[in-house]
Amino acid sequence: MTSIASLSSDPIPDEKLTILVPCFNEQCVIAELHSRLMTIVDGLRVPTEVLYINDGSQDRTAAIIDQFSQDPRVKSLHLSRNFGKEAAMRAGINAVESGAVIIMDSDLQDPPELIPLMVQEWLKGYEIVNMQRRSRRCDSWAKRTAARLYYATMDQLIDDFEIPQQVSDFRLIGPHARAAIRAMDDNAGVLKLLVSWLGYPSTEVNYDRTARQAGRTKWNTLSLLDLCADSILAFSTRPLRMYSYLSVTSFLIGSLWVVAAATFGELTHEHLLVQSILLLCLGTAVIGEYVGRVLKVVSPRPNALHKRKHP
Ligand code: UDP
Ligand code: MG
Repeated sequence: MTSIASLSSDPIPDEKLTILVPCFNEQCVIAELHSRLMTIVDGLRVPTEVLYINDGSQDRTAAIIDQFSQDPRVKSLHLSRNFGKEAAMRAGINAVESGAVIIMDSDLQDPPELIPLMVQEWLKGYEIVNMQRRSRRCDSWAKRTAARLYYATMDQLIDDFEIPQQVSDFRLIGPHARAAIRAMDDNAGVLKLLVSWLGYPSTEVNYDRTARQAGRTKWNTLSLLDLCADSILAFSTRPLRMYSYLSVTSFLIGSLWVVAAATFGELTHEHLLVQSILLLCLGTAVIGEYVGRVLKVVSPRPNALHKRKHP
């Protein structure tokens, strides 16, 4: 691994770097993260800020990050309630007006010591530096299986652009990519896919994602299902196309059935009825999901709001 010292001869870019850290109820781990993170920031030759995004925490996270922000290089942004990590990351990107950003988790699963390496890749000219897991050994069986299914599904349904496998949300987004994402609507799509959709020069760096150092994960199977549905609905209309093919095939089979029944007079029409009902339900579900997505996109509400101070 490249050490911080060996990077000190790198040219200093005009741009700055902001490290975005979404946090939700992370009072147990945030102090350790901060101390390790600031040691790294001190060694970087790129002007760097840290922005903690408090995603509606109910523990002492808000107070702790406010205390960190006495350091002029550290800022805190409080959301009005818990909106979820995706919205928190996007709120962070929206708050940064120039330079590159790095997004990292607050539970030390994304080692801050890898930041110099990410910066080095950026300085080589990559706009996106994805951190790719070497293995998922520290994840539960359920999470590993769900992740495998997620990538397999995306591979089947999205072929307009390459989706790097097993990348986490730990990534560097260069100034151009950050500006492009910021100019888009909040509902432009799941960040993990949006950065690939941009088509900007990108690279993957392998890393070992460590276990959460303290506190509890907020992940559950439902969050993965939500991510999967949001990813498909935002980036692929293939389910609609597949449904159209299915309807046509079903219509043809149904017509043959009717002709056969009329000719031989022995076949019952029950199967046809069941088939039509199933098709109707499936059609309503598929189209309903897309209508829901359209409603979300045209909604005048942003994905997250900043907290207002009590008078
Ligand atoms: N997080 C957040 N809002 C949420 C859930 C999580 O900002 O609603 C943050 C959390 O504090 C952590 C990161 O997202 O910094 C990853 O969360 P977690 O460790 O629970 O997920 P996992 O790593 O288990 O997938
Ligand atoms: Mg975690």
